[in-house]
Amino acid sequence: MTTQPGGTSDEPIIGIDLGTTNSLVAYCDATGPVVIEGTEGDPVVPSCVRFDPTGGRHEAVGREARDHAVEFPEHTVFSAKRLMGRGIDAVKDEIDYLPYKVVSGDHDTARIDISGRIYTPQEVSAYILQELKTRAEAHFDKPVRKAVITVPAYFDDAQRQATRDAGRIAGLEVVRIVNEPTAAALAYDLDRQQDSTIAVYDLGGGTFDVSILRLNKGVFQVLSTAGDTHLGGDDIDRAIVELIQKEIRAQFGDGLSFPPSTRQAFRSFAEATKIRLSNDESAEIEVALGEDRVYHRTLMRTELIDIMQPWVEKTIDACKRALRDAKLKPADVDQVVMVGGSTRIPLVQQVVGQFFDAEPYTALNPDTVVALGASVQAAIIAGINREALLLDVIPLSLGIETMGGAVAKIIVRNTTVPAVAAEKFSTYVDGQTNVKINVYQGERELTKDCRLLGSFDLTGIPPMPAGLPKVEVTFMVDANGILTVTAVERRSEKQASIQVVPNHGLTRNEVDRMEMESYEHAIDDMTEHRLIDLRNQAKLDIRQISKQLEKVGDEVKADYRAEIDTKVSTVQQFIDDREADPNAFHQALTDMDHTTIRLAELAIAKTLRDEGLAD
Ligand code: ADP
Ligand code: MG
Repeated sequence: MTTQPGGTSDEPIIGIDLGTTNSLVAYCDATGPVVIEGTEGDPVVPSCVRFDPTGGRHEAVGREARDHAVEFPEHTVFSAKRLMGRGIDAVKDEIDYLPYKVVSGDHDTARIDISGRIYTPQEVSAYILQELKTRAEAHFDKPVRKAVITVPAYFDDAQRQATRDAGRIAGLEVVRIVNEPTAAALAYDLDRQQDSTIAVYDLGGGTFDVSILRLNKGVFQVLSTAGDTHLGGDDIDRAIVELIQKEIRAQFGDGLSFPPSTRQAFRSFAEATKIRLSNDESAEIEVALGEDRVYHRTLMRTELIDIMQPWVEKTIDACKRALRDAKLKPADVDQVVMVGGSTRIPLVQQVVGQFFDAEPYTALNPDTVVALGASVQAAIIAGINREALLLDVIPLSLGIETMGGAVAKIIVRNTTVPAVAAEKFSTYVDGQTNVKINVYQGERELTKDCRLLGSFDLTGIPPMPAGLPKVEVTFMVDANGILTVTAVERRSEKQASIQVVPNHGLTRNEVDRMEMESYEHAIDDMTEHRLIDLRNQAKLDIRQISKQLEKVGDEVKADYRAEIDTKVSTVQQFIDDREADPNAFHQALTDMDHTTIRLAELAIAKTLRDEGLAD
């Protein structure tokens, strides 16, 4: 092993897959990555925590909690990852499916209520991370403090930050957050000398992600990502539960209601049935309802395929989006890497194979592949494995508000991180000494359709005429996706900046909605954005013209003056017309500018004379 400055390489950095359903820990040394198993030889820690009935302390983590979840539905917490770093409104749809109580906390965040004791999803995740940390410490027989943790590719800033916080609560320094699909590609240890395009298809219990990666000269680059945090094996479990409940009601009466413990039992049962049907052609379902009532039926694989078909199609839609963003066709993809327990479903492998016209990679266990990849990334950071470098992308464009509610995009979506971009702006009002910088994320052209990430003021600009200050706004996104925005006024060197960590960021649904809307509204938006720009420009120009007229009006001949007035009033009409045709507006503006060139020349000549620089 090598020693590197500032630390020794004998402090292990572990790789953690903190899954919605299952979590794992792995470690990579010079011989390669391995999953660290528990004392009973089980590599998986179910992401499940049981509290005691009063909610005062946690009683069980992992398998033990999962196995008895049915008995203690109100104080067993699973799927906490779905609540991480999210607002209560964003998780409304989930709550019906969670037998425990979810309530609203500070900043309208989602919290978990166990008999009146409130837990944040970060705390619940921390119990799972602690379990993994303990496993690793038992394995190495020494303390472990550093970890790489994976997250779904579409996790926004707030969700990544929440994951980092969960690590800190568990006593882990999270040295890097890595996207799950990118970790999977690392685990496959593809031939780094060969340039290739890889699709990573990750269908787990709760989330779906697809990433298009390029492996070029030993460097991984994420070209694009797409997915859905509301698509996974759980949906199929739920569909089976609904089917069972519907049939039971039809058979034994509509009035039948199912308490939480029964609903949870249905879920476990449905999952077992689904998994059986990955291997067998049929599965028996039997539910004893008491009072000699027994529901029994045989579920055929073909029936399940009918249920799954539209669900798999949704994943293919996301694959198409990812390819479109990467400007590629399915045939451009050389390798397809399958990740997540749900990729064991034969229908999934078949549909994905057909779409990409390639045999999907299934050699590595789809449950452990992400953790293995996380440990490979950890080894790269520790200096054990320096061969590969990993780059991620920004999921939605970042920009600032300009006059009239338009958004100027500064970093566009799918730019690889770390990224830096700058743009120059000016003021719109004479003597303006403050500039408010509003930072937005989204694909649409107008602020009202994007998400405000944060604001700050650049103050103390010396008073200058409108348009003269040179305000340079720089966006910097670090390797972990954290955005810092800096604004500098170049003439005075006044500077202000913020690090943008939103309350609870964008939900995946918002990302999806914003992306969809941006396509639907692209034309309207462009028109409106253009009109805003034209209005701003026209107002500045008219102000300029009136100043010049003040200065040299007496030198201007009457017919020239009349011509200027006509052009200005035409442009003024366009400014006031909400429905103006941008092309006609642009033409009028060009005419006015053209007409007033002579006026500008007169004004400049006068200025030079006044300052004694010309005669
Ligand atoms: P996550 O990343 O969300 O934690 P995993 O990758 O561990 O999820 O996948 C868990 C999902 O995989 C669950 O919905 C589970 O039912 C499903 N699953 C596991 N094995 C199989 C199988 N053989 N057939 C179908 N689904 C499976
Ligand atoms: Mg997973």
